[in-house]
Amino acid sequence: MAWDYKREVEAIQRHLGDLSFQEQRILITGGAGFLGSWMCDVLVSKGAEVVCIDNLASGLRSNVAHLLESKKFRFIEHDISEPISFSEKLDLVVHMASRASPFEFEHYPIEILKANTLGLMNSLEIARHNDARILYTSTSETYGNPQVVPTPESYFGNVNALGPRGCYDEAKRCGEAYVTAYKNQYGLDTRTARIFNTYGPRMRFDGIYGRAIPRFVDQALHNQTITVFGDGSQTRSFTYLTDQIEGLLRLAALDRAKGCVVNIGNDKETTILELARKVLELTGSHSEIAYYPLPKDDPLRRRPVITRAREILGWEPKVPLEEGLSRTIEWYMAANLGKPKEREGSRAEDRSRKKDNAGCRRSTFQPRA
Ligand code: UDP
Repeated sequence: MAWDYKREVEAIQRHLGDLSFQEQRILITGGAGFLGSWMCDVLVSKGAEVVCIDNLASGLRSNVAHLLESKKFRFIEHDISEPISFSEKLDLVVHMASRASPFEFEHYPIEILKANTLGLMNSLEIARHNDARILYTSTSETYGNPQVVPTPESYFGNVNALGPRGCYDEAKRCGEAYVTAYKNQYGLDTRTARIFNTYGPRMRFDGIYGRAIPRFVDQALHNQTITVFGDGSQTRSFTYLTDQIEGLLRLAALDRAKGCVVNIGNDKETTILELARKVLELTGSHSEIAYYPLPKDDPLRRRPVITRAREILGWEPKVPLEEGLSRTIEWYMAANLGKPKEREGSRAEDRSRKKDNAGCRRSTFQPRA
């Protein structure tokens, strides 16, 4: 059964209304990643010419393979931490390149720091030389383990620079400082999104890339133990990808959002245990829930204040968790990711994964005992 990605693209188009990207040339770093590839899809469908850069460290060529035939799309395999120049004039740069899964923080801290400092600086320079605007995708992790919840953009954060999340949290905080510096020193047209937990089709479920939602779905569909960390009372506010991409594109496109830093996330807070139970219910799985130690510095609560997004962007999340989870489960099953034989035993899948991620080390992640 083919999974129809156009439904997501059309929903985003509908919600963007008459916001136009027609005839714009747009560079997306990290464009083969989970969110980056949806960004490419929507912008191509809105008539933009998209240049996608990705080093395929955690992104997948297959996420953008269907776009390769379009004259409006170009893929460049390149690590944005290394400089690159363009002969064509660009209108917008979207810097999304970065690994984002907590399990990756342990294995690739330097790559993460580089993507959000050197890589971002390269993107900022490209924007500056093109007199283009830039959208930087920062994160709710800039708040660390927040003492103020719901968290407004004015909150400074509570981050442990030396802890296991330090490489990501501080890289993104430094990234925000870079963006602010380019805005202040060069008058660059900048926009910064603080993305809260976002999920949906194309999110990686395998090895060290997996976040809570794809891991729980994968475990539930294999009737394996659901690995809840801690007692599951920690919270996250989950945003479905269509809502997230709509928010990001509104932030990128609206003149009144110039210079703004905006939380983009759902303001409905869910405990991880509730999430695990919802996944069990929606998959009809008989998996047991088991409890594992809470990772160090795992934020206990995460929920945004989204007044700014409502007021400046005219945006709010629309997709309920059950609906987004159902769509994610449908995708997962249609993509045959749920078949244990193919996942574990298939050489073909192994080969395609290797091809997809040339140069990427294999995961050594094991669930904690
Ligand atoms: N989590 C969990 N079991 C897992 C993976 C994650 O209980 O197998 C928890 C994790 O400790 C965190 C929450 O789920 O509290 C969200 O984790 P995720 O990796 O999705 O992203 P984070 O918000 O921590 O960056």
